[in-house]
Amino acid sequence: MIERRRNALGSAYRLFYENPVHLVKGKGVWLFDADGRKYLDMYNNVPHVGHCHPHVVEAICKQIGTLNTHTRYLHENVIELAERLTAKCPKELDNVMFSCTGSEANELALRIARTVTGGTGLIVTDYAYHGNTKAIFEISTEDIPADEVPDYVVTVPSPDTYRDGLDADDYANHVHAAIQLLRDRGIKPAAFIIDTIVSSAGVITPPGHYLKNAAEIIRAAGGLFVADEVQPGFGRTGKNFWGYEVDDFIPDIITVGKPMGNGHPIAATIARSDLIDQFATHSQYFNTFGGNPVSCAAGLAVLDVIEQEDLQANALQVGQYLTNGLKALADKHDAIGDVRGSGFFKAVDLVTDRDTKEPAPDITVSVVNALRSNGILTGSIGKHDNILKLRPPMVFSQENADFFLGVFDEVLGAITSPV
Ligand code: PMP
Repeated sequence: MIERRRNALGSAYRLFYENPVHLVKGKGVWLFDADGRKYLDMYNNVPHVGHCHPHVVEAICKQIGTLNTHTRYLHENVIELAERLTAKCPKELDNVMFSCTGSEANELALRIARTVTGGTGLIVTDYAYHGNTKAIFEISTEDIPADEVPDYVVTVPSPDTYRDGLDADDYANHVHAAIQLLRDRGIKPAAFIIDTIVSSAGVITPPGHYLKNAAEIIRAAGGLFVADEVQPGFGRTGKNFWGYEVDDFIPDIITVGKPMGNGHPIAATIARSDLIDQFATHSQYFNTFGGNPVSCAAGLAVLDVIEQEDLQANALQVGQYLTNGLKALADKHDAIGDVRGSGFFKAVDLVTDRDTKEPAPDITVSVVNALRSNGILTGSIGKHDNILKLRPPMVFSQENADFFLGVFDEVLGAITSPV
């Protein structure tokens, strides 16, 4: 199967794990392979309310058996979803434009920012991922080779509360310096964009008033603040519905995707209507699949389940339980340098030495593969690929956490102190 896939899909794709998994079924937090073996899913944030949630499945099936068109006809679903999304936002963020992927949602956000500000310059954190279109690849500093970064893209260091030892002034100075660099190049800033849980660089919750300060600085320079909520949004962090709400400010634009349709491709750009109005004087907007009645039925059903099953509160409560369990394991295993994140977005920073905080990518890859062999799916991230990323569906329970903690304890013990 691996060879057939390689022949058909080519060499740019990657598979997870030394021994890849062939999945055939999903239910809640569980995934099942072709041999009937089950895996606890602690990686996938797209099946937000659980794999194949019956309410979402039913909503999609019902709508696709009734009508599927696009946003150039009147339909309740698209209007209702926009209304329910803006109800989750501060009143200033009152318009929603639909697309199919987070990349498109970000692409549109940048088009709006550039149209409204008349600038082209973009400030992004280093080692960020925002998507795969050309414009967005240029700000996906995790992937783009340094010599391909255009002069209108300037990076600021990602905040790193574990390793960098910087304070609010240092972070603010980074943004000031980035604006100055753009100006030195004769480029007007259009936007500062950040993944509000700074996932790719290591699941860092922006400290203090990092976000608010950056928003004030970019606005003073004539640009907009774009909060990429593709990963932290929809209650994943437990405390708040949106990741940016850790700070006391309102972004100009927020972008959402991944969890929004529980696996059905739907994404959105949510912005102030005055910005959309200015954009609309230059451009119309149409996206063939974005916002179609079936996608919107999926989006509505996801919001229903989050509310009816109180999943944000579950992320807060079980997420805290998981943090406590991981911190207890840190007392036992020196390889755990840091446990961070909130709700159901956690990182375990694995190190070879707690004092120097030297990243331990070898241990991490062994842990990820050993967890997979023991029926738990996770992944790794970070510049050094030494950070275990835990991001289960929102229906993850305390019992699931206990199962994970027990296996993780054994796996870490076996890898770091082999008998
Ligand atoms: N923004 C962030 C923060 C992401 O993590 C991703 C996807 N990993 C994207 C945007 C792009 O989303 P998509 O893959 O749906 O285009």
